[in-house]
Formats: sequence, C-alpha cells, structure tokens
Amino acid sequence: MQGKILIVDAIATNRIVLKVKLKRAFYDVAYAASKAEALEAVGADLPDLVICALSLPDGGAADLCTAFAQNPLFAPIPIIAIGCQEDTAARMATLEAGVHDVLRQPVNETLLLGRVRSLIRAHNAAAEWQMRDDTCRALGLAENAAGFEDQGHCMLVSTDSVLLQKYAGQMRRVLRTKISLSSASAVMQQMSQDTMPDVFVLILPTNMNAAMEDLRLISALRANAQAHHTGVIVLQTAPDPSLGANALDLGADDLMTDGFDADELALRIKSVMRRKRMGEQLRATVRTGLQAAVFDPLTGLYNRRYAMPHLDRIAEHANTTGRSFAVMAADLDHFKRINDIYGHASGDAVLVEIGHRLRRALRNTDMVARIGGEEFMVIMPGTSLSEAQIAAVRICGDISSTPFIVPGSATPITVTISIGMAIGGGEPVASKVPKDCGRALLDEADQALYAAKGRGRNQVNLGRPAA
Ligand code: GH3
Ligand code: MG
Ligand code: MG
Repeated sequence: MQGKILIVDAIATNRIVLKVKLKRAFYDVAYAASKAEALEAVGADLPDLVICALSLPDGGAADLCTAFAQNPLFAPIPIIAIGCQEDTAARMATLEAGVHDVLRQPVNETLLLGRVRSLIRAHNAAAEWQMRDDTCRALGLAENAAGFEDQGHCMLVSTDSVLLQKYAGQMRRVLRTKISLSSASAVMQQMSQDTMPDVFVLILPTNMNAAMEDLRLISALRANAQAHHTGVIVLQTAPDPSLGANALDLGADDLMTDGFDADELALRIKSVMRRKRMGEQLRATVRTGLQAAVFDPLTGLYNRRYAMPHLDRIAEHANTTGRSFAVMAADLDHFKRINDIYGHASGDAVLVEIGHRLRRALRNTDMVARIGGEEFMVIMPGTSLSEAQIAAVRICGDISSTPFIVPGSATPITVTISIGMAIGGGEPVASKVPKDCGRALLDEADQALYAAKGRGRNQVNLGRPAA
C-alpha cells in the first residue's frame, strides 16, 4: 500500500473516476461526500493525503483546510483541491488557506499521481522528524529552537536573462523576500552556505530538451549537503504534465503548470518557505535534544552515557594498534563541605570551573566527562604511563594552586582533587578485547582513586590491574 487517501466530493461519479486512478497506483482510498463527513472520516482513520473538491455542499477545500489547522493531528495532512471553474479568486483563496495545489477538472492523471507521490513523500518525511522530536521531548531532551526572523531569500533560476529580469521586477512588487537571479548552471558554482537561498524557483524553458536539462538541477540540489533541505518550486512556461510529474518525482516541492503569475508564485514561495522552516526547526530541536543526550548541561563536558561506550571504543582501538591509553577517575576532595559552607550555587560554580581547568590541561584528543556529581573521567588515547602521570599531576596542581572565585565567599576558596589512574592497551592482543574492558579499566582507576583518598587526598595514584 502506497498510502491512504481520502477523496472528498459530493458528486459520486467524480469520486469513482478518481478512485479508479488512485487504486491503479495502489493507493488505499476512502470517501466522504461533505466537509462534515470528511472530518469524521479523518478522525476515525488519519489519511496521508486528502483530495477535495473545490466546493462542497457545506463549504469547500479551503474550509476543510481551515478546520484541519485547528486540530494538531489533522494540521499536517496535505490537501489537493480539484475544481472545474476558472475562478482565479477562489483558486487564490484556496491556496491562501493552505491547500497545497488546485488542479483543474478534468485532472491529468500523470500530473495528479506525480503530485500525490510528492505530497505523501513530504508528509512522511515531516512525520518522521515529528516523531523524532516527540521522542526527544518524551526523553526530556528537546528545547524549543529559536524562531526564524529574517525575511528569507528566494532565487529565480532561468537561462533566459531577459525573462528573469522581467519576472524579478514583478515579484519584487508582491514579495518582501530578498530575490536574486541565476542560471541553472551557475547555481551549483555559486553555492556556499552563506548564499544558500531558502527557495529556488526554477523557470523551465519551453523547449523540452532544455527543460529536461534544467531539471537536473533538482537532483544536484537534493544530493548537495547544504542544499538538501532547500525549497524548490518549478514553474512551467509551457504545459507538459509528464515533465511536471518528473520535476515532482525528482524532488521539487511545488509546481506551477500554467506559467508565471506573480501573486500565485508569491503565495507558493511563502508557503514552501514556511514548510521548509518548520522542517528546519524540527531538525534543530532534534539536534539540540541529541546534544543534551550526550553533554552534561552544567559543565558542557560529555556525560556518563557518552563516556562509557566511548571508553570501550578507545579500548578496542588500542587493542588493534597496540598503543596504550590512560583512564583517570577524578573526584573533588571534601566537596560536600563546599556546598555546606558556601551554598549549592558555589558548589556549582566550582564544578563549572573544574570543567574549564580540566579541558585546558588536556589535549583536544583527550576526552573529559562528568560521570557523577563531583566525579570526572578523563580518557587519553595514545598515551604512555609517564605522559599520563605528568598530565594527572598537572591537573592536581592546576586545581589546588589557584583558588576558586565563588558567589558565596568574598575571598577565593581552595579546592583539591584526587585522581586514580589506569593504563590500557600497550600490546596487541590476539583475542578480541572483552566487552567490559572499558568498565574494568574504570574500576581499576576507581580503586586507585579510593586509595588516593585514603592517603590524604590531593594526589595521583596509579592502579594495578586486577589479577
Ligand atoms: P571526598 O573527598 O571523600 O570525595 O568527599 P566529598 O565530600 O567530596 O564526597 P561526598 O560523596 O561525601 O559528597 C559529594 C557531594 O557532592 C555531595 C553532593 O551534595 C555534592 N554534589 C553532587 N552533585 C552536585 C552538583 O551538581 N552541584 C553541587 N553543588 N553539589 C553536588
Ligand atoms: Mg564522589
Ligand atoms: Mg568527592
């Protein structure tokens, strides 16, 4: 099954004709004869797409779209309207309400199916990101991404520079967006992150072969990491349903089949831009959520969840290269007293500063994680025992020799740290590293740390491998 489509039309023959076309393409089809029936049907079983008559006995496609917008479950469902009238005002009002496209009756099957494929694909992709965002929220990881405030940038693309100037002039009258111009071949060369438009409008020439050539730009954009999510609207200057369907299949977000119309193009640019930005916002929250999954929010260091598998990976790598690596377990001395005397906020300030000092004392390749309240882990790949000892003693000195400025004390306070150390790798082992090798090394470092505490704190102690 390709997807679920709800057909909404009061005229039975229209529904049947459409159903035959969609069934042939393996879509699962349901019917409704009015807006009220449609809302009921959508509530019972969410479709991937709705194809709705421009007018219905109790409203029309635009009203249905407005009703969808009020329900967060229905709002993402794309709607295509089909109408027989040449009423430009009704068409514009329908597009303005958020309907994705208005196709004229009788509908060209190739174009319709191209539209359907493209909208269902975009709908599924958006739903997938929405799901990841929901998961991040369920895990308590997502924060709202900052809103977009700039006006956006739209690039008109055509090989005909005279036409470009003419269209740009008309677009500037109806659109506040920055508008730039380019030929299809120059687009890829000009591409850099700074100049990447939010939306490309690819104006196809009337010549079929030249148009096919220009369509290659869509594949190129979709394959480019920076342009991957950029909006593409294809504008046909001569009607050609199969070329239009081809453009949609290649990844165009929207298609204008009836030539240039400044008002309609402006509307479509705004709506593609809005959808693209919603997508970008979702991806940003997911990214932020994933960051939260591996970083400690107080110190910005890696957290335990990240550090433990990372330690295993370093151990495995050392096993294949035969190079040694160091693991340190570090714990602040009498940290409870700091909280008790100066307050929790001062304790936090110490932890943040400890994070800075640890990072400053180590190389970029070393990993520092906060694995507990006032416990840290350092992994130093490709490091010998003597190098690691020098680094650990330096860390102890960096912390104890410069007192910490904290909000709860007029004078800086002295803080010390104890470090237990273990060395892994060192010689190639024929058998694979046991899965818990990282864990075993950390245990060894922990034992050494415990001994350092017993010996008076503020010192480094080397562990001995378990027999
Ligand atoms: P030792 O030298 O034996 O390690 O003594 P200690 O006081 O450092 O160790 P203990 O385990 O008794 O106390 C750790 C303290 O760390 C207790 C807890 O309140 C504090 N702590 C843990 N997480 C945080 C945090 O995020 N912020 C602050 N301010 N304190 C924290
Ligand atoms: Mg502790
Ligand atoms: Mg402690």
